[in-house]
This record gives sequence, C-alpha cells and structure tokens, in this order.
Amino acid sequence: MIRPILLYGSPILRQTAQPVDLGDPNLPALIQDLWDTMYNADGVGLAAPQIGVSKQIFVVDARELQPPEEEPFHGVFINPRILTSAPECIPYEEGCLSIPHIREKIYRPNAIKMEFYDEDFRLTVKEYTGIVARVLQHEYDHLLGRLFIDYLSPIRKQLLRKKLRDIATGGVEAHYPIAHAH
Ligand code: ZN
Repeated sequence: MIRPILLYGSPILRQTAQPVDLGDPNLPALIQDLWDTMYNADGVGLAAPQIGVSKQIFVVDARELQPPEEEPFHGVFINPRILTSAPECIPYEEGCLSIPHIREKIYRPNAIKMEFYDEDFRLTVKEYTGIVARVLQHEYDHLLGRLFIDYLSPIRKQLLRKKLRDIATGGVEAHYPIAHAH
C-alpha cells in the first residue's frame, strides 16, 4: 500500500526509531508498504519513520544510480548497525523524499561495514562502497532522527532556511502523496 511520506518538520523524523521485533506479524505488510511507497515516489531508499512508523527498518533499490559495471543492488535492512566507516569521505549531491526539491552536496565515508537482518530475517554482515554505501548511510541516519541537511554548513543552511520553512509549513507539492508536519 502506498502511504503518504512525512515531510521535514514532522517530529517523528527527528526521533530515534525503535528496534523491530522480528516476530511482529505486521512486519511483511510494513516491508511491502515501504517498497510500494518508495517505488511510487521514484526513490532509491525509504526508511520507516518517513511513513510515520518509528521502527529501525529501511529499503533500498540503488539500481538507477549505480554504474553499469556494478552488480544491481536492492535490499531490506532491519535493525541495522554501522560497524565501521572508511576514513575517506567523498561528496555526492543528495536529496530526500521527505525534503522535496532540495539537493545538496554532502560528504560521507566512501565505504561502510553494516550488520543487519535481511528480508529473510538472517543476521548479515556486509561491506558496501560507492553509491550503495551512500544510500545506506542516508537511510540509516533516518533511524537516528538525522537528515542530510544536518551536515550542511551554517551558511548553506541559512540559504535554505526559507525553502525548509516552506516544506515544514505545507508550502510545497510533490509528485507523490505527502503528509505535512503537524
Ligand atoms: Zn531521506
């Protein structure tokens, strides 16, 4: 089911999400809702808090952004933890379905090692690099109540102040269903 995506200004986007109970009978439906909502919005990742569920789960399908030589990547990440991050940070222009019409250059580690439960609830540890590592870190941040704009310089943030206020006060539209902050 396609759910409305919460926009910047919604308090739930700033909360630390709770661990997922792997025995929760509603979990398969939540995973399906995340996929449906993400694909409908043409996103490459979506975290549960973005649809108003403060749980530690997100989905990623990075295929659209990956270079052709890479193996196409998509997956479900439940109760993830970043174990290690590479010291080298690289820039990339990020956007977020909860912050429509804003894209900003953000520096993040080029590689990470992540532990998580996959869609079959198997505990997994894997290393990721490049665009996949980028998307995973962005989605993981959502589970900690963090948004990509938090990494901007004070000057850059100041320049975006009006745009962000418009998003938070219902002054923007998107090509997918959205829920304004209240
Ligand atoms: Zn996001």
